[in-house]
Amino acid sequence: MSGRLAIVGLGPGDPRYLTAEAEAALAAAEAVYGYGPYLDRVLPRPGQSRHPSDNREELARAGAALDHASRGGAVAMVSGGDPGVFAMAAAVCEAIEAGPPAWRAVDLAVVPGITAMLALAARVGAPLGHDFCAVSLSDNLKPWALIERRLKAAAEAGFVIALYNPVSKARPSQLASAFEILGRDLPPATPVIFGRAVGRDGERISILELAEAAEEPADMATLVIVGSVATRVVARPGRAPLVYTPRSAAPGLSR
Ligand code: SAH
Repeated sequence: MSGRLAIVGLGPGDPRYLTAEAEAALAAAEAVYGYGPYLDRVLPRPGQSRHPSDNREELARAGAALDHASRGGAVAMVSGGDPGVFAMAAAVCEAIEAGPPAWRAVDLAVVPGITAMLALAARVGAPLGHDFCAVSLSDNLKPWALIERRLKAAAEAGFVIALYNPVSKARPSQLASAFEILGRDLPPATPVIFGRAVGRDGERISILELAEAAEEPADMATLVIVGSVATRVVARPGRAPLVYTPRSAAPGLSR
């Protein structure tokens, strides 16, 4: 008998961002899998087993959860933000495609959550109000040369760019390289928003210009949004500035 696997987005951190659907999926699970720190955000429930794993072990984690579900279990797999954005939903799909037929019989549900770029955008105004894209700067699963090419194309095309996974211990200087590449096509005054631990304790948001952005500290809990040539910063008395990208592109604007 096949069971159920729900891949649940927890949102950026604070429980108030957990959707009612996510809450219900967690309550219905007999077993919860996930990267340790994400699992720590889920309140323990009586009778529910917990299966924390390491960050890098996505495929093994996906396989263990699918095995559990294919034996009839009601299983939840948790992800920070949205599970479909640089996270577990794609890892589970990869495992299903490559795995045994029994995994395809599992009743699979992807439960969306608020992804980091939406949480950060909401804090500062509407930087994603016009066309935008999201790029992970991690080169664990793709070559750095491809990241460079995509950054250049995105800047040329006039997209606002959300940068996930901006740095890690193994990649201390990639964010500065990304700013350097973007700076070839974007003006030095282009607004850049840094959001650390958005929606949880220790949240820190800064608004800078591209020319100075490489000086700003960033870590694995930081999301960066780089504006387009159209992105505006509106000063307000006694309040943080508003950053937004107007809904319309001026006629004749090539990016
Ligand atoms: N699935 C997640 C993203 C996973 S990739 C989501 O939808 O948000 C991990 C990267 O997401 C981090 O390196 C960071 O860039 C970003 N991130 C996740 N949560 C964040 C938060 N609360 N504040 C700022 N950035 C966050």
